[in-house]
Amino acid sequence: MARAVPLRDDLVGLTGYHSPQVDVEVRLNTNESPLPPPREWLAELTDELGRIAFNRYPDREATALRAALAEFHGCGPSQVFCANGSNEVLQCLLLAYGGAGRTAAIFEPTYALHRHIASLTATTVVSGWRAPDHRLDLDVVDEVLATARPTITFLCSPNNPTGRAEPPDVVSHVLERAPGLVVVDEAYGQFAPYSALDLVRGGGPGSDRLVVVRTFSKTWSMAACRLGYLVAAPDVVDACGAVVLPYHLDAVTQAAGRLALRHVDAMEARVATLNEERGRITAALGGLGVQTWPSDANFVLFRPLGRAATEVWHDLLASSVLVRDCSTWPGLDECLRVTVGTPPENDRFLAALTSSLEGTTP
Ligand code: PMP
Repeated sequence: MARAVPLRDDLVGLTGYHSPQVDVEVRLNTNESPLPPPREWLAELTDELGRIAFNRYPDREATALRAALAEFHGCGPSQVFCANGSNEVLQCLLLAYGGAGRTAAIFEPTYALHRHIASLTATTVVSGWRAPDHRLDLDVVDEVLATARPTITFLCSPNNPTGRAEPPDVVSHVLERAPGLVVVDEAYGQFAPYSALDLVRGGGPGSDRLVVVRTFSKTWSMAACRLGYLVAAPDVVDACGAVVLPYHLDAVTQAAGRLALRHVDAMEARVATLNEERGRITAALGGLGVQTWPSDANFVLFRPLGRAATEVWHDLLASSVLVRDCSTWPGLDECLRVTVGTPPENDRFLAALTSSLEGTTP
């Protein structure tokens, strides 16, 4: 149907970023936690609801939440900015530092929203390819940074969907050469052995251009709440505060995040369980003759050799197991990505995959 009013010229042809929401028994496609947050947290939140002044706007500065996050990370509250999921944090960074006439650099394959939100904010995107093993190729990085002089360089650590975290020396290398902000998206940071947070807190050269973005959607088991944040220099926090909508973060979400931080041990126990399961899935995939890449996150990228990825995806769906079909994404021919679930969910996935590879899916 013809549009009554034409879209912005640079958005013609752009589609929203959505993964299929299909009703299945085993949902392993969006890297959520398969485990709920602790009961104690829910009881505390329920109690807190009674104390919220629902007739009033929420605290625009999210003071208590930012103070709790600052304490958790050993930084100052002026270094923390919170928003509705880390996607909104990324959008604020691009609104503040991107835009027409400015460039963002990404290294493919990586999280599709970095390119997508950059495009929505009319930021030019330049990209370089990762090495065949999906690590960053530092020669390519140097070339992209020297040629494009981006205002924002995105890293993703662990990288979605390939899985590896960037060691601190790689982040430092990028920071030394990047002329603008270096944004390290650590949505899966707590699953990994390294974090760029130490570099932000260390205050070394370039640390005032380093931004670490995190979320409550994965390790904190709170994807339904939509809460993400960044840790960076105070002027980056101020810039995000200037572009975000007033009262953007509702009072319930602020309380949910603040109370979650009382349950760090439970979060770390969930992470340990999922990391153990990740090892089991990776080993089992290897045993099935499936190509995998090492992961420091709660998902594993794999290529089912000998059968088309899309056929395998359909077979898994027929067994009520939903994984992510990445086979049409840049640089990911014939690849699928499975989120680590509970042990029984992972068993279901491995059994369904075995049947698919044997050609015996019912
Ligand atoms: N960054 C990365 C790398 C992700 O994979 C995701 C979610 N899939 C996000 C950010 C966004 O997460 P949220 O908006 O739920 O915080």
